[in-house]
Amino acid sequence: MVGVVGSSPIAPTNSPNRPANPLEASAAAVSVRVHWARVNVMLKVRLPDGASREFSGPVTVAAVAEAIGPGLAKAAVAGQVDGQLVDLSHLIGADATVAVVTARDPQGVEVLRHSTAHLLAHAVKQLFPDAQVTIGPVIENGFYYDFSYKRPFTPDDLTAIEARMAELARQDIAVQREEWTRGDAVHFFRGQGEHYKAEIIASIPEGDTISLYRQGDFIDLCRGPHVPSTGRLKVFKLMKVAGAYWRGDARNEMLQRIYGTAWGERKEQDAYLHMLEEADKRDHRKIGRLLDLFHVQDEAPGMVFWHPNGWTLWQQIEQYMRRVLADAGYQEVRTPMVMDRVLWEKSGHWENYREHMFTTASENRDYAVKPMNCPGHVQIFNQGLRSYRDLPLRLAEFGSCHRNEPSGALHGIMRVRAFTQDDAHIFCREDQVQQEAADFIELLQRVYADFGFTDILVKLSTRPVKRIGEDATWDRAEASLSAALEGKALAWEINPGEGAFYGPKIEFSLKDSIGRVWQCGTLQLDFALPGRLGAEFIDEDNTRKMPVMLHRAILGSMERFIGILIENYAGAMPFWLSPVQAVVMNISEAQSNYATRVTAALRAAGLRVRCDLRNEKINYKIREHSMQKLPYQVIVGDKEVVANQVAVRARGGQDLGVMSLDGFLAMLRKELPQAASAA
Ligand code: ZN
Repeated sequence: MVGVVGSSPIAPTNSPNRPANPLEASAAAVSVRVHWARVNVMLKVRLPDGASREFSGPVTVAAVAEAIGPGLAKAAVAGQVDGQLVDLSHLIGADATVAVVTARDPQGVEVLRHSTAHLLAHAVKQLFPDAQVTIGPVIENGFYYDFSYKRPFTPDDLTAIEARMAELARQDIAVQREEWTRGDAVHFFRGQGEHYKAEIIASIPEGDTISLYRQGDFIDLCRGPHVPSTGRLKVFKLMKVAGAYWRGDARNEMLQRIYGTAWGERKEQDAYLHMLEEADKRDHRKIGRLLDLFHVQDEAPGMVFWHPNGWTLWQQIEQYMRRVLADAGYQEVRTPMVMDRVLWEKSGHWENYREHMFTTASENRDYAVKPMNCPGHVQIFNQGLRSYRDLPLRLAEFGSCHRNEPSGALHGIMRVRAFTQDDAHIFCREDQVQQEAADFIELLQRVYADFGFTDILVKLSTRPVKRIGEDATWDRAEASLSAALEGKALAWEINPGEGAFYGPKIEFSLKDSIGRVWQCGTLQLDFALPGRLGAEFIDEDNTRKMPVMLHRAILGSMERFIGILIENYAGAMPFWLSPVQAVVMNISEAQSNYATRVTAALRAAGLRVRCDLRNEKINYKIREHSMQKLPYQVIVGDKEVVANQVAVRARGGQDLGVMSLDGFLAMLRKELPQAASAA
């Protein structure tokens, strides 16, 4: 029995670096007693599919996988025992629920990535023995590892490191877990010249388990779990190297951060690398320059200068949204950008959100630039006496907001400090929430479809631990929102405990053409703000009641949504959104009058048309306008003049042939989105 306990992860190992420790010896004795009581007792393992298996005594996760089937044993990278992620070598000492984790599970992929980070450090230590290791966490789609080294790693270094990683993986070196005392671990890493690692271990709280993972001549501090051997790491790639400060503090030493990606299957990695390539080509900052849409400059960090083309695009979206909202019974308002501190104190923003607000002062009064529109809308609601007959009241604003985001977090027009929300607040009675939510969800689906997004992800976030309001109120609110989601052609899931302290919310994300997910829409119930700002109405029974407030947005931030559109379409905007929808070109001077007349007729029909009468070769003009991704090119030569027609080319070079102007206009009308043309 002692031998069995000895190989368990909670008991000491016989590592030569670890002298015996009386404290651990007594812990082992306790474990022995526990197992002794279980001797000769069958051990029952419950599996995720509901089946269970019996073993004649303690069993490793690997052995459970083997008992299920050799295929699973080969694919296994880790295990989950009673919900806890463990190594395949973990010994199950009592009845437990056990899942075998493979690279098909998100957790399995994380184990692969974490083990690949160790493989990276192993390779670096072999190639650059005086580099010091620090930390190597898993991140979205991959991992990184920070090293201290006397010079920056070069692209050639990365190539050599990656080749060494492949070699170490080919050697299929066993990865073993060991548990050490803190003193031993600190002593060991100091002795190896690994001062960062020693510092990390020294800062681990007393009493916490210190586990190390050994693979060949490399040993690293890690909570685990890890793959059982390096041969499991087959699909990985080093991406780049960047500088990073030790412990993220600019006063500390600059480290070398090597980024990598790792996957269960080659084709998953290929798809990911392809997506990155596509994302780079579609970068909205590049396309914004190419199509002359906007710029940002250092004097106004996170604030956008919209150029004529970009502002035209913006206006198409704003005017479309204005029509859609008016049809849905919203009334548009406008509220001040700058309001007295007193109001922000009442709303709670001054206390809870102050560091994100820009402030200013005048005549001994403090003001804040609004970070959101809600308190302003409550001021409009509060004008005059409201009756239940006024509800629901839907106030919409293209609300210009400012938030003091850290300059390091800013990114093109996607992450900014000044932005405009397609914001609205619905003030209603509690019994109107479900209908309002259902109507909103329908509206949001229509709008997303008009912009070309049909793959929508929906999450309902329910009551958090810290919250205001009675449980009965939360019960009704959550039930209303889930009832509003039922029956819609939408897949949705619950995000338990992720609601705001003042109410539950639904978040809507859309998937773009290269599979990236962007959260845009939101619908949020608020039991708090109306009360804080004194909003009330006279109900049917003549009593004063507090309205429920629904914060909702469909696009979210106009700036960010335009960024998403640009990247989704790689700048080739749908016809109805294109800043310039068509260009009319003459082949020679002889058709310039006719080209001018065609341009005027198209403009009179409401199109945004450019006229190119330059004395250049027609192929040169076509090429240039193709670069600008204009939806249509209208070409007129002598034949078209005589026949009173136009020759039309679509974006991408497709020749649509010769047609009358009316025929061309009829074709274009079909390209308008449903909601836009219905209005
Ligand atoms: Zn709001």
